[in-house]
Amino acid sequence: DYGPAPEASGDALAWIVDQGGKFGHFIDGAFTAPGAGFDSKNPATGEVLATLSQASQGDIDAAVSAARKAQPAWEKLEGKGRARYLYALARLLQKHARLLAVLETLDNGKPIRESRDIDIPLAQRHFYYHAGMAQLMEAELPEAQALGVCGQIIPWNFPLLMLAWKVAPALAMGNTVVLKPAEWTSLTALCFADICRQAGLPRGVVNIVTGDGAVGEMIVNSEVDKIAFTGSTEVGRKIREATAGSGKSLTLELGGKSPYIVFEDADIDSAVEGLVDAIWFNQGQVCCAGSRLLVQEGIAEAFHAKLRARMDKLRIGNPLDKCIDVGAIVDPEQRNRVAALVDAHGGEGEVYTAKCDLPDGCFYPPTLVSGLSPASALMQDEIFGPVLVSSTFRTPSEAIMLANNTRYGLAASVWSENINVALDIAPKLVAGVVWVNGTNMFDAAAGFGGVRESGFGREGGWEGLAAYTKPKGKGKALKPVAE
Ligand code: NAD
Repeated sequence: DYGPAPEASGDALAWIVDQGGKFGHFIDGAFTAPGAGFDSKNPATGEVLATLSQASQGDIDAAVSAARKAQPAWEKLEGKGRARYLYALARLLQKHARLLAVLETLDNGKPIRESRDIDIPLAQRHFYYHAGMAQLMEAELPEAQALGVCGQIIPWNFPLLMLAWKVAPALAMGNTVVLKPAEWTSLTALCFADICRQAGLPRGVVNIVTGDGAVGEMIVNSEVDKIAFTGSTEVGRKIREATAGSGKSLTLELGGKSPYIVFEDADIDSAVEGLVDAIWFNQGQVCCAGSRLLVQEGIAEAFHAKLRARMDKLRIGNPLDKCIDVGAIVDPEQRNRVAALVDAHGGEGEVYTAKCDLPDGCFYPPTLVSGLSPASALMQDEIFGPVLVSSTFRTPSEAIMLANNTRYGLAASVWSENINVALDIAPKLVAGVVWVNGTNMFDAAAGFGGVRESGFGREGGWEGLAAYTKPKGKGKALKPVAE
């Protein structure tokens, strides 16, 4: 099964039409009538896919109060009872995997190979894992209690997967949620609402409201017990200020500028291939993208030559084509932002653009900017697009210094055939996760999150579950990872 062919967008488009092409919010177990709102577009073609509603204060109040009303009974179901629903959600995500993959690709522009093989399977895995953990945690942590109602705000780069990262652990631990997807990519979240209905999830347990940052602000300021946010450092900072002193729990998963360190003794072909995954997966719109290449001086020239040759082979085009490596950028605004950052490099370094025919639509070519100084804006700022920046180092200690010369701390990747070098370097890198001879390895059972301006708190694993609990009385519940 090689998955949908380019023309196979029919099911996803039919689902949108079945829903009337216009969406309200999912509140208290039902969709509201569509209100004034905005269009959701396919970035590869510019075509309007659906019309979405901008939530009002009244919608947020209704969603929070539905979640509040549903929460005690949901918590009282206990782990086994909640697990049944989480398994049902996981199975329905599996059943509708193809529809969801095509919908995600249409809405976000990511290659179908990625939504089909990564986004949707990992979202399913998250629900399966947390169904199991719901039962286990009850036995292991009898003193842990749900927080209550959780406000959850997610970005556009992995729409359904980010939803799964937020909703599954919250529900497993007995919380109810009000979630807002990003305004450019809300369709799979709305399809998930439909799936909640099919699963017979008690009304009010999951509420989904759509709209822009103003709706996010309303959620942050509403009567919820926790805010879980994934997005930019800039907005994360605002949310931290807004929740300070409010007693609300907070986890922030923010931006990154992760180093990708290649030593002279690395397996160069593997390191080049890993780099393709690190920076051109999802068009570089990945919080932990290996966006900053640090390569040891002795091999820098040869490595860059191989890399440029590999870039020229990347296939960029219709995201629904299963042979495509690089799809569309999520929105023209984001593409223009990426282009402006690269154009402003001020003549420093050398810009190399992959030789490719750029299709019409919202595309940006794979780009490498080499020979940059450590302090340059392109080396320091998150670009969040298919743009790799690089510089060189001489010694391991210089590699560590350059790698840590960032305000972020989400991920890092070290490439060397000498395990002693790799294991010596790894703990010295300031990052939530360090991969050795690899990149972008995730699992529902492993905590993921950052330090410094990449945020705090962990999602996934025990730490991620603990972040949705509080101790009962003087009990000994797990604490979320310290800020
Ligand atoms: P963004 O911060 O602009 O938006 C994220 C979400 O917040 C959206 O739903 C948006 O509508 C909402 N929002 C905007 N302003 C708000 C406000 N004032 N109050 C409340 N909510 C508000 O980020 P984005 O452009 O959607 O996503 C890209 C960013 O997300 C990148 O910086 C990326 O690194 C980061 N990210 C981090 C992780 C992680 O796990 N650390 C994962 C994915 C993305």
